[in-house]
Formats: sequence, C-alpha cells, structure tokens
Amino acid sequence: MSMTRTTCPYCGVGCGVLANEDGTIKGDPDHPANFGRLCSKGASLGETIDLEGRLLQPKINGEAADWDSALDLVAEKFSAAIAEHGPESVAFYASGQLLTEDYYVANKLMKGFIGSANIDTNSRLCMASSVAGHKRAFGTDTVPGTYEDLEQADLIVLVGSNLAWCHPVLYQRIAAAKEARPAMRIVNIDPRRTVTSELADLHLSIAPDGDIALFNGLLTHLAETGRIDTTYTSAHVSGVAEAVEIARASNLNDTGLSAQDLATFFELWGSTNKVVTVYSQGVNQSQSGADKVNAILNCHLATGRIGRAGMGPFSVTGQPNAMGGREVGGLANMLANHLEIDNADHRAAVQDFWGSPTICTKPGLKAVDLFQACAEGKIKALWVMSTNPAVSLPDADGVAEAIANVPFVVTSDMIEKTDTNALADVLLPAAGWGEKDGTVTNSERRISRQRAFLKTPGKARPDWQIISNVAARMGFGKAFAYHSPADIFAEYVALDTTLTPAPRDLDLSIFADVDYNQLLPTQWPRNGHRFFSDGQFFHPNGKAQMIAVTAPKLSKPRFALNTGRNRDQWHTMTRTGKSQRLGAHLAEPYVEIHPADAIELGAKPGSIIEIESLYGSALLRTLITDRGPQGQLFAPMHWTRQRSKRGTVNSLTAPVVDPVSGQPALKTGSITAQIY
Ligand code: SF4
Repeated sequence: MSMTRTTCPYCGVGCGVLANEDGTIKGDPDHPANFGRLCSKGASLGETIDLEGRLLQPKINGEAADWDSALDLVAEKFSAAIAEHGPESVAFYASGQLLTEDYYVANKLMKGFIGSANIDTNSRLCMASSVAGHKRAFGTDTVPGTYEDLEQADLIVLVGSNLAWCHPVLYQRIAAAKEARPAMRIVNIDPRRTVTSELADLHLSIAPDGDIALFNGLLTHLAETGRIDTTYTSAHVSGVAEAVEIARASNLNDTGLSAQDLATFFELWGSTNKVVTVYSQGVNQSQSGADKVNAILNCHLATGRIGRAGMGPFSVTGQPNAMGGREVGGLANMLANHLEIDNADHRAAVQDFWGSPTICTKPGLKAVDLFQACAEGKIKALWVMSTNPAVSLPDADGVAEAIANVPFVVTSDMIEKTDTNALADVLLPAAGWGEKDGTVTNSERRISRQRAFLKTPGKARPDWQIISNVAARMGFGKAFAYHSPADIFAEYVALDTTLTPAPRDLDLSIFADVDYNQLLPTQWPRNGHRFFSDGQFFHPNGKAQMIAVTAPKLSKPRFALNTGRNRDQWHTMTRTGKSQRLGAHLAEPYVEIHPADAIELGAKPGSIIEIESLYGSALLRTLITDRGPQGQLFAPMHWTRQRSKRGTVNSLTAPVVDPVSGQPALKTGSITAQIY
C-alpha cells in the first residue's frame, strides 16, 4: 500500500505519520521526533477524515455562495474599513493549526500591505510567555534544546506539564530512556498528581503560581552552596548579582512545599550537571508567565547548564505549528523571520524585500486585547482563521459578544457549525489536514512537511490560497501571485538569506537549495546544531541576561479553577470528537474535585455541579479525586457550548493576562461551586 509521509496535526511534538486515503495511519519510523511511535490521538487520525460536519462551500449570511462573490465581499469590506477608519480598524486572528506558508502569507498581507500588526493567534494562549522569556534572556526567541537532550539528561524537571497526556510521545521517549538508565531522575512540579507524576521520583505539589518562589529559592540555594559557575557567568551572563539579590527576598512558604521536599529538590538540581527543565502551560498560562520562564532560565544560566548535551531549559509547545508561526512573525508583536517591529532597520529590510507599499510601525493587539477592541467597537472587520475563539479564549461568553459586535466577520474553517462561525457574515471553506501541503515546525525547531493524501473536498481551498485571493482583490495581486506552497516557502527562505543585519538565530540557508517535495525533517539552522555552545547569545553585548524576578503576591480564593487538556481530545474537539475510540476515554465535561471539598459541597460522584465565576457559569459532572489539592478544581477545556449544552469551561476563566507576554492566566481563576 502506498503511504504518504506527513506530520501529525496535533501537539508540538510533531510526530511523523505515514497515511493512506483509506484511513490507514502509521508512525513514521524515519521521523526523528517519534521514530514510529504515535499516541492515541495520532493513531486515531484515520477515524477523523470523513466529511461529516465539513464546510464545503462559501457562505454569505448563511446562504451558499460562489467563491468570487465571497472573496469580493471580504476584500470590499476590509478595504472599506481601512479607507474609512484606517488600518488599525481591521484584524486577523489566526491559529497554531495553520501551516507555516499560511501564516507567512497572512502576516505579509496584514503587516506589509494593510500596514497594521493586528494579527494575533491562538498561539498567544500557548507559549507567548516563553517567547518573552527567551527574548529577555537570550536576545532572541531561541529554543536551545532538542529531544535527544531529554534522553541524555541525568535529571529531568517537568514544570507545569502533564507530558504523559499533552506530549505523549515525548513522555514515551523519556520513559524509555529512564527504563534503559534507571539512575535518571525525574521531578514533576505540578499542583495536581497526574499520570506524568507516576514516572517521577519526586512529585512536588506546588501552590498555584508558586513557581517563581521555587526557582528563586533554587537560585538562592545555588548561590549559597557555591554552585554558581562564576567562570561561565563572568564571561557570558549579565545581571547575575541583581537576580540573586532579588531571589533571596522570595518567601519559600509561597511554594506550599515542605522544607524537606524543597531541600531534596534543591540538592538534586544543584548536584546534577546534566539537568533539563521542561516547562509548559502551567508556567506559561499565568499572570506572571514570563517571569516564571525567566526564573527557570536564570538557574540554567547561573550554572552554565545550557548549550551542552543533556542540559538546558526546554519549552514544549502545545500546538503543531506554534513554532512555525512565531518564525514567520505570526504574532502581533513580531515582524517576520524573528525580526522586530520596533527596529527601523528590520522594518526597512522586510518592506524592501516584500516591495510593499507600507509596513506596520508598532505592535498590534494581542489576543485578549484584540477581542476587547472588538467589544469596544474599534474593530470594523475581523478575519478568524482555523480557530474557535468564542470557546477557547478566556471569558468566552464576553468574546462571543465582542465578535457579534464587529460589523463584518469572516471565518475560514474546515468545520461549518462552530460557536465562532455562528457569528460570522462570511464562511470560507478551508482545506484541512491530509488535503493540503505545507510545512510545520515542532518544539525542537524541526521543520517537517505536511503532505496531501486526500482529494480536496467540495470547494475547499488551502488557507494560503484564500488569503492570496483576498489580497489580489485588495489590489496586491503581484505580491501574492503564488502558485503553490513551495513558492511561499522559497520566498520565506529567500527573505531569510537576504537579511544580513546583526547576528540572528534564525538561519534558513540549509533550506535554500532543497527540493520542497523531497524535504526531510530538518532542524534549523542545521541538524545537530547546538545553540549557545560557544557562550554567545544574541543581546548586543553577546551575553545572556539574567532577569531579576519577584514572586507575585498570591491570593487564595476558597475555590480556584485550573484548566487543561485530556489525553484523547484536542482543543475544541472538531477532529478528535469524531473518533468513538477517543471519546470513550472521558466522555463528557467534568470537573475534578477533592473529596473534602465534595463533602463540604454535598457533591456525590457523578452529580452535576454548577461552577460560577465573575464571567459566567457552567454545569459539569463531578469526578471526586484527591489528584489535586483541596480548594483546587480542575476541568478540561475541550467541550464547546454546542457539545456540552451546559456551558463551556472558558465561560468561567478571566481575561487576565501576563503584562509582559499578553498570555492569559488560564490556570488559577476564582470560582464558586454549588450542587445543581
Ligand atoms: Fe500527534 Fe503529539 Fe501524539 Fe505525536 S505526541 S502523535 S504529534 S498528538
């Protein structure tokens, strides 16, 4: 049977997949991310490629329309809004599900031709705090680690990450490495005891947002036990003394951990040379997310545990192409190719290369602010691409009202009936996974191909083509005359190789002469390259910067809501919800509640409980468990209003963001609960 070599559309591990149009799916034994492994979601992809529920033709105000009419209307409405209210009156909200080529074209249209940076993405919910932390510490958004480092480490610290459910193949690789080398130690830092904790030698049930106090405590311990590598720091790191001084002021009581657990963790970290600290949404999705990231990076920089095999900080991304999106500038505060909007030379270089009539001069609206601007009537035309913000953003009910307040809304999507599409004037049918071609970048900077192995159904088109079609109707046809994603990838690489300003991390020259169709999974700047091995960072002085971070003052509501993912579902379930096998794992919306809290509330196993916050309410089935601490409830975010009929979990979450990164704090909302 002939199989097409492609990449899984779910998490940022970026596993290679062999796929056939009859639904046969296998792990790609030659892909360096997974070497043939797949998790339950990847293995079930064949059950999700039917056409039920698909949007197969353009629609205008709910009526079927032809492509020309729909595209003309979109171009006309965006052009009219720009002419009347200026470029800041329009916005794109994109997705880490888009392929790099889609992202590149959307970013180019908004920033170089419309002249605004109002293009943000659901990746803001995923890793914006890591981007901000990397840039402050390294001078660039560089992920220094590779998956092999995890197998070579002697100590892996997993912070705010249920890797076993959210990055399962990476978890499998670590489990295999630990089995082969039992001396490897694993510490899991998470308020909840999860499946990931079962692999750990030490589980630290940290207080929500206690991470800065913990890593400041570790930095203090490293300083007091003479473990700061002063030879390394004096040559390569700035800000050491200030960061240590501020760290000393942190109160370890804020961690919620016992003195014995703290001493064990500090000594284990301090005495182990090969340490990798893996972190994910428990760190990023916080009001102090960027500071948490820098508290972690500080410990690696202070000890020189970076840039060498088996050591370093490692941000694992939630989405399949959050990394590709940030590479081409698909965030409101980035330009393209890791260049800066605030830098006049960078703006001039990109504008010159694009031959564009304008270029954005200031950062645009980040996700939560973007929808706030919709609510305030400042956005006159909005384009939502491949995502469902009326369910996935915090204060989801407020976001739905904000979208309804925009005079003209267009969505491009595979699925017809979503909560966001219900609010749109125009629906544009997008080709999906298995139907279109492009590239994605995984958490270890590896660019892989996604390849079509199915016929494009109905009148669907790939996103890059839809965006280019609209750009042409807005008068920018020459700059968007692409014939294929290969043209776009070649332009993206050419932009990179044209740029010669100050040292940059992103270097795509290895892709310059590659046959796109034959492209093998390849890390930039080249396979096996180890960033920072020479002690050179990307700040103007060539050094890394430690950031002095202060632990936030923690409030302790009677009940706090933590949100996250299930093992077998993805985002708002548009794809995984089709698989009976995946649905059997956890079949309906639920909330985990501690036994002592259940007694106080009079909740029985399986009873329905009403959760309320300042922003909304939801009815959830109780799952009584001591996995989480007393006072902390946990609910997965997957079920939409349409699926649950009882409200969606992000109706409860607050539109509160990290002031540095703009990433929403989705883990620690104050709620009330009562039996329904
Ligand atoms: Fe897909 Fe992630 Fe599972 Fe790999 S680990 S098969 S990329 S969902």
